[in-house]
Amino acid sequence: MKEIEHRINYNLKPFNTLRISSIADDVYLPKTIDEMTLLLANMDNPVIVGNGSNILFSSKGVKRPVIITKNLDKVNVNPPSIEAQTGVSTIRLSNMAFELGLSGFEFLIGLPATLGGAVAMNAAANAQAISDYFVSAKAYDTKEDKIVELAAPDMEFGYRTSIIKKNPGRYILLSAKFELLRSDSYIAIKETMDKAVEKRKNTQPSLKEPNLGCAFKNPTDKNGQKLSAGKLLDEAGLKGFLSGGAMVYFNHANFIINFNEASSLDYINVMREMQRLVFDEFDIMLEPEVIYIGSDKKELELWNTLLKG
Ligand SMILES: Cc1cc2nc3c(=O)[nH]c(=O)nc-3n(C[C@H](O)[C@H](O)[C@H](O)COP(=O)(O)OP(=O)(O)OC[C@H]3O[C@@H](n4cnc5c(N)ncnc54)[C@H](O)[C@@H]3O)c2cc1C
Repeated sequence: MKEIEHRINYNLKPFNTLRISSIADDVYLPKTIDEMTLLLANMDNPVIVGNGSNILFSSKGVKRPVIITKNLDKVNVNPPSIEAQTGVSTIRLSNMAFELGLSGFEFLIGLPATLGGAVAMNAAANAQAISDYFVSAKAYDTKEDKIVELAAPDMEFGYRTSIIKKNPGRYILLSAKFELLRSDSYIAIKETMDKAVEKRKNTQPSLKEPNLGCAFKNPTDKNGQKLSAGKLLDEAGLKGFLSGGAMVYFNHANFIINFNEASSLDYINVMREMQRLVFDEFDIMLEPEVIYIGSDKKELELWNTLLKG
């Protein structure tokens, strides 16, 4: 493991889109799948980080070893098939699919993510999801200590979930393969991508106002109808609510921005108020979409109350 890029007491600020300062004891940046599997075979319960666009790191630091996947960035193209390693940027994949005249990845243009994070979370937007054209993934099974192939039915994709998310720490994605749709219109693909970007510009903060996307999942009502968490939060009067350096975005009430050196506790406090007010107003318990990584006792207690609702 000697030659694998390794940092000690390393600040994760550039590796999360909320720009939270969080010192990790041990950080590894593998460059090849061999390096990644070597790490996984020799490590106990590492934190896997793609682009950190859905992870709230504790400002008190991270004790578990951290593996950052961004250097696992190889892509194999055989149209309409695309196979990419876990650290490939979703924006790059969207542009690549466009250049090949392939449809299905248009929504990825708006997602500041890696492929691994998108598959683990079953990322979706604008009526498209990463599961739509998914064929299979290679993953390291930490329970069996071997590389396994997961086909689409094995993935248990659901709303913001997958087998990866349901079994924390067991399956670590190495790569994933997709069969996209051949399109005879580059213009149609480009228009869908442009619309996705434009829609976000009008409603969501850019990463100049650091954030983690939606803090909460969209809930369902008692009849199973999907509701918009953002709308409920807006109606409960949360826009502009702040704690320390974290604030509910004025243009979309399900986004929390770091406007002034926010700490993870600030972010959690804002989430608690969002959950409480929506419950008081509508009798609906919002469930966090964001994932917390840390071991601070106070934060963990608060986070667990958020998870339990
Ligand atoms: C501005 C903004 C807009 C967003 N819009 C959307 C949206 O429209 N739709 C949507 O679905 N999400 C959205 N998100 C949330 C986020 O981008 C997605 O959840 C994304 O899929 C996370 O990818 P990531 O690479 O950043 O993952 P990370 O945040 O790094 O990780 C997320 C989870 O995936 C796990 N993970 C990452 N890589 C692997 C791997 N190789 N193997 C196993 N587990 C892994 C991590 O351990 C963690 O549990 C948005 C976020 C932002 C900041």
